[in-house]
Amino acid sequence: VPVTEQRTKPDGFESDEEAMVAAVELVGRTGARHFQFGFLDENAPIDKARWYAHAEYRGTRIIAEDHVGPVEAAEALAARLLHGGMCKGCGKVIAINDDPVPIPEVLIDGTRVDPEEAKRRGLCRWFREGVRWMRGCGEDAPAGSTRERLARAMAEAGVPGVAIRDARLGYYDEYMGPLPFPISTLVADLEKNGFPELAARARAGEFNATKQESDAWAASEEGRATFAEFVGSALTGAKRAEDKPTAENAGADATFAVVDETHRLVDETRRRRPWRSNQKKSRKKRK
Ligand SMILES: [Zn+2]
Repeated sequence: VPVTEQRTKPDGFESDEEAMVAAVELVGRTGARHFQFGFLDENAPIDKARWYAHAEYRGTRIIAEDHVGPVEAAEALAARLLHGGMCKGCGKVIAINDDPVPIPEVLIDGTRVDPEEAKRRGLCRWFREGVRWMRGCGEDAPAGSTRERLARAMAEAGVPGVAIRDARLGYYDEYMGPLPFPISTLVADLEKNGFPELAARARAGEFNATKQESDAWAASEEGRATFAEFVGSALTGAKRAEDKPTAENAGADATFAVVDETHRLVDETRRRRPWRSNQKKSRKKRK
């Protein structure tokens, strides 16, 4: 998006560059044709200058005005664009802060929203990570992969976004995940959190790795065939989780770098937010 009216900052004026970049990037992602920010009062002190930001779309513009600085204006604009929008990753209503979330009647593309369905699905809590706004439910895993199928089924069932994100990262994946018994853990997590129907589907094998995924895993393992013990465990189908990369062979296989990164992201996610239900949160809010 073209951005206009950048202004030199006066001495001592601090602004969060990352928040600004993230807001501009977000506006670009929403298909805006132009993004502009500036202030109205030329002679006022910087925080009283009434900063605004606006995004221009075909036929409409979204404005955030009367803010104390450009970042505040840009963040408010991001909130107007996201908060109460619909997340493409999970079909939930997006929340980016703790303000009440209005359930939209109609989406930007004209689709009508069923409020009951929106309530059942719950909220997707987006968050800003550095220069980018991230979905609460994670970025899409490869189309057709077991973990993406699981994520979509979870979204359909109204499972909280943070658990959908874990699924996308491969947390419950039989080959990529860090768990010794991924499907049993998935079944237990779903039951514990009130999703018995989806738990039954998982128990019936719907989210077991596909033949293709197991072949791909076997192929990547062949690259490590010099390690006799790994070949042994591959042939017997023994636990993959124990084959975690060590300092010596890290980098030998790019697959394991991805797996490593997955474990790190999952750990991080777990530390940040426990898997809690949407329902509890919204009940508390209503009080
Ligand atoms: Zn989402």
